[in-house]
Amino acid sequence: MVADRMHAASPESTAIVDAVLDYSRRRMLAADVPLDKPQTPVELRRLTGGGTITAQGLGAQRALATFEHVLAPACLTTSHPLYLSFIPTAPTMAAIAFDLVVSASGLYGGSWVEGAGAVHAENEVLGVLAREFGLPESAGGVFVQGGTIGNLSALVAARETAKDRLLAAGRELPQRWKIVCSTEAHSSNKSAARVMDADVVLVPAGADGRLRADAVREALLEHGDAVCAVVATGGSTNFGIVDDIAGIAALKDELDFWLHIDGAYGLTAMFAPEARHIFAGVERADSLIVDPHKWLFAPFDCCALLYRDPDGGRRAHTQHAEYLDTLTDADDFNPSDYSIQLTRRPRGLPLWFSMATYGLDAYREAVSATIALTRRIADEIASRPELTLVRDPELSVVVFERDGWERADYDRWSAELLDSQHAFVVPSSHAGRPNTRFAILNPLTTFEDLVGILDTMA
Ligand SMILES: *Cc1c(COP(=O)(O)O)cnc(C)c1O
Repeated sequence: MVADRMHAASPESTAIVDAVLDYSRRRMLAADVPLDKPQTPVELRRLTGGGTITAQGLGAQRALATFEHVLAPACLTTSHPLYLSFIPTAPTMAAIAFDLVVSASGLYGGSWVEGAGAVHAENEVLGVLAREFGLPESAGGVFVQGGTIGNLSALVAARETAKDRLLAAGRELPQRWKIVCSTEAHSSNKSAARVMDADVVLVPAGADGRLRADAVREALLEHGDAVCAVVATGGSTNFGIVDDIAGIAALKDELDFWLHIDGAYGLTAMFAPEARHIFAGVERADSLIVDPHKWLFAPFDCCALLYRDPDGGRRAHTQHAEYLDTLTDADDFNPSDYSIQLTRRPRGLPLWFSMATYGLDAYREAVSATIALTRRIADEIASRPELTLVRDPELSVVVFERDGWERADYDRWSAELLDSQHAFVVPSSHAGRPNTRFAILNPLTTFEDLVGILDTMA
């Protein structure tokens, strides 16, 4: 019976589970996981013997060996202390370990009926985040796959709310909806506008890279009822720049608009007492996102989406279908109602377990430490004659140039760093000039590690 083989407990099943847990255990507890590096499709095909999916199956041992010795080494270790590109990840040991439990239990996180315990724990985490960001007790939301889906879900809720408001007031709906954001806003906001068939009103950021209130005010006055949301960034991905959230939020005293804060990378900095003031005004947001898979030490993939008034999210996103009637007719809190997704794993649970295990003080300390390390390495960069800081870092991203280097020099240097398995630091650019950047959020990254990279640029 194939079901006995594939689904039931049996000696073969025990061997498979043991092998996978053994591998996971070794990998999680290994002291020195290499950075590893990608391979070409041709090379991977060759190394995997031309294909791994056969009619009879390879058996778990061979399949796992292929993963361990061929496929896994062709994946960058994004949690490596010297993986400093894009936005890295640095899940805690508790969070990584618990991710296995989420998978092992077949938990369903879409509805209260099916996943009450898991949803309760996720909601406790969302409550902690809402408090941290100054949102009211009544705020709520859902963990979604990533910032891109979080931004899109929030902006759709903003548009539906704007639509309801105009209709209720007997006003005409605009031909095209508009989303106001900075030229420096993350690409996912522009992508969301495309999906929504809405226009983006790109407001030029100031010389310091921040979106300013007077410019937002002008855009709101010019585009009026057509604006369904203003997006302010709480820590840009390139530089960690935080828009003038306080000034933009204060416009709410005068104008009626939905304020969304895209804090995917940076909002976590509010866990550091010394950085909280940078985010003043966040407490007036109508919606916000933060990606725990970035700086809040959760594994991929995890974005917390919060609404000031969750009803706005629910009106926009609840799916209606006959087979779902029993869910939608009940008064329960169903996470599926708050974003563009129905089936979902309770992806907030690894974060819940980690926060429950270590407590919030440990998080504050870890976030503060990375901000301090960034400050320290920025000073070191500024002190080196051959290096120039492009901007003073505000959070935990530092961008700098090596004087005299062209893009090709950065490319060569970066490839050599990865080839030698020293570090993963890719070239970037600003205003047409090549540079490089460290995105520092791994508590295991040390000052000496970073100095070692700077030395390779001398
Ligand atoms: C990373 C990031 C996003 C996109 O988040 P994903 O989880 O990659 O989809 C959006 N906005 C900002 C500011 C980000 O840093």
